[in-house]
Amino acid sequence: MRGLMQDFKLSVASILNHCELNHANVPVVSLTPEGKTFRGNYGLCLKRAKQLAQALTALGVEPGDRVATLGWNTHRHLECWYAATGMGAIIHTVNPRLFADQITYIINHAEDKVLLFDITFAPIIENIASALTSTKVFVAMTDEAHCPNIGGLEVLAYESLIAEQSGDYSWPDVEDENAAVGLCYTSGTTGNPKGVLYSHRSTVLHTYAACMADTLAVSATDTMLPVVPMFHANAWGVPYATSVTGAKLVLNGPHFDGDTLLKLLNDERITITAAVPTVWLGLLQHLEKTGAKLPHLKRVTIGGSAAPRSMIEAFETKYDVQVNHAWGMTELSPLGSVGSVNHALKDAPHDTVLDVKAKQGRSIYGVEMKIVDEAGNELPRDGKSYGNLLVRGPWIAGEYFKSEGGSILDKDGWFDTGDVAIIDPLGFLQITDRAKDVIKSGGEWSSSIDLENAAVGHPAVAEAAVIGVAHPKWDERPLLVIVKKDGMTVSKADILEFLTPKVAKWWLPDDVAFVDDIPHTATGKIQKLRLREQFKDYVLPTAVAEVAS
Ligand code: ADP
Repeated sequence: MRGLMQDFKLSVASILNHCELNHANVPVVSLTPEGKTFRGNYGLCLKRAKQLAQALTALGVEPGDRVATLGWNTHRHLECWYAATGMGAIIHTVNPRLFADQITYIINHAEDKVLLFDITFAPIIENIASALTSTKVFVAMTDEAHCPNIGGLEVLAYESLIAEQSGDYSWPDVEDENAAVGLCYTSGTTGNPKGVLYSHRSTVLHTYAACMADTLAVSATDTMLPVVPMFHANAWGVPYATSVTGAKLVLNGPHFDGDTLLKLLNDERITITAAVPTVWLGLLQHLEKTGAKLPHLKRVTIGGSAAPRSMIEAFETKYDVQVNHAWGMTELSPLGSVGSVNHALKDAPHDTVLDVKAKQGRSIYGVEMKIVDEAGNELPRDGKSYGNLLVRGPWIAGEYFKSEGGSILDKDGWFDTGDVAIIDPLGFLQITDRAKDVIKSGGEWSSSIDLENAAVGHPAVAEAAVIGVAHPKWDERPLLVIVKKDGMTVSKADILEFLTPKVAKWWLPDDVAFVDDIPHTATGKIQKLRLREQFKDYVLPTAVAEVAS
């Protein structure tokens, strides 16, 4: 028997309509690449988005067409999201931190019709425009006065483009809630980047999940600063979550430094924020230097790579800010798990809670998870067994855009995340490594993430990375690579002494290398592949000793 409820299509347009009716006067504040601060509200952004939708229609954009952006988190970028998704086109957020070749590949692969870019990225456009095969319209997200002159290329100024339109427009109804609405490519550390194509349905369901109290907990009385970029993994769904709930939205434009973030957090009275650990490293160092406090901030969500325990502890004990550690992937829209405290932990000593918060949290309803061994057998959730992490759910990719391989799921619909993880009896997930970064020493695996987290707890360590280096007896042994904090001195012996009580004895690195900096991917993650190349001829002292014996 079928249920007798309305067959109402889930669509991003319904988010926009709800926002306009209910939250039009809620402020949207944005720093911009030109230097001016925009102070408007959702109503104004939606009106301007409708003008943009009319302009895009006049430029020939049709439902299903890809509209690309190369943009910081700004009100104009938000308007592009609103316009493209609302009109039935597909917003394709391109990561400007990728190499020019990758950006060209991605835009051509997506067959983007229009490219809207921030003036900061004019040099990228200049570099790649002639290699773009399908993009015919270039729009600089600025006014006429700041519109860059890019030799031989017609560039439209965003403000003039939308000024020609009335904004008298209604978002069309979506006929198929599974129609595509967003496109985002993974960084592709191996091979070409792969496109994840979100649907209206997946986006709306992900938005509900993002707002829940144990996920990002976005409410109408909050002010949200999503430092996490709109050009990568949908800014963790924040722009849709604030549009649905009516939280005030503050956007940091091209500024990620501790000083600017601190000013925004305190001047705009931000209550919730979200970003990768490297951003918070900068802010915490700035707070330490200036002695400033965070009187308004209630909660920070940290994810994208592992949040060290010391970082979580600093926020919670020094600044009275609650940390939620999250795990996700572009393929998951991106939210997969969040580490909010549950009944079993709510009265536990803070030290125990911090240990658990250093894990990657519990799965959000909507994301099923399991860990399996190499043969695909499910492993127990005992807090000890580790294996490949598989997921399935309504906002998880089933195949990549225009992929020849077709489905990326196994016969039961599970997607292999490429992460190796442990799940404990309370359901907390612990990512130990990416499968390709695992260090296999004498048949045992050790967790480079645990070692890195322990190492950054040392007061003189700014950043740490662990890689496996060849060893004649053990196959591989861990090498710890460290960037020291400015002006600090620390020796290998100090580090090893610091780590000894914190990690299993056989995990202790065989050597410590000090470097000026560690290579990062376009999404701010440690680039293990490059680091391994850099140290490929490195000979561990224990390997020398082994050969000599
Ligand atoms: P890209 O490789 O393009 O940066 P993603 O942002 O989708 O792509 O990266 C997802 C990966 O980031 C996950 O598979 C996982 O390895 C890592 N990751 C995300 N969040 C965390 C976290 N909290 N702790 C450890 N690793 C994380």
